[in-house]
Amino acid sequence: MRILVVEDERKLARYLQQGLGENGFMVDVAHDGIEGKHLATEGDYDLVLLDVMLPGVDGFGVLSALRKTKNTPVLMLTARDKVEDRVLGLENGADDYLVKPFAFSELLARVQALLRRGGSGNAQEITSLRLGDLELDLVRRKATRAEDRLDLTAKEFSLLALLMRRQGHILSRTQLAEQVWDMNFDSDTNVVEVAVRRLRAKLDDPYAEKLLHTVRGMGYVLERRP
Ligand code: CA
Repeated sequence: MRILVVEDERKLARYLQQGLGENGFMVDVAHDGIEGKHLATEGDYDLVLLDVMLPGVDGFGVLSALRKTKNTPVLMLTARDKVEDRVLGLENGADDYLVKPFAFSELLARVQALLRRGGSGNAQEITSLRLGDLELDLVRRKATRAEDRLDLTAKEFSLLALLMRRQGHILSRTQLAEQVWDMNFDSDTNVVEVAVRRLRAKLDDPYAEKLLHTVRGMGYVLERRP
């Protein structure tokens, strides 16, 4: 699941990227309306989180440009609880509306509800993921293999959830670092490699079937291999 966050408040954008990343979403961020409009219309997203007050083009401008070609679900974010904003947003094709400040859990619930409704046609409810005998309960943040509970740290769980959601796709160290740690990740550090090694020791070492694979020079992929 890919989400585009269009938000000019960098701190909030980073917070959303990290929080959604920890819940297994791939997140791209645009910090102004022009970039947001470009990414929303050209990119392939399952959902767009769209701030109303943006430099360049405002949220309504981004929304109307997007609606000319796509029906990607849009959740609008604004600091102003104005009825006219809400009406304008919904009339222009926004799917839902959240007033700042909001609790992350509220945002996540709205995001999941919109994905369930499936404006883009390929959405599904995200409460658990399965690969072979590995199962992730995203609600309770619990991982099991062959019914054995895996004792993972919060970061290891986030890392595994991200790999699970994109199973079969190679994810680079940079992608993992941005999504699971921080977007200002120093690529010289080996934090991703260390975390992958620890995750692998718990996830794969005790079991015959290996699921987490290193792709030399590219990154990591989670998949079943015959
Ligand atoms: Ca703003």
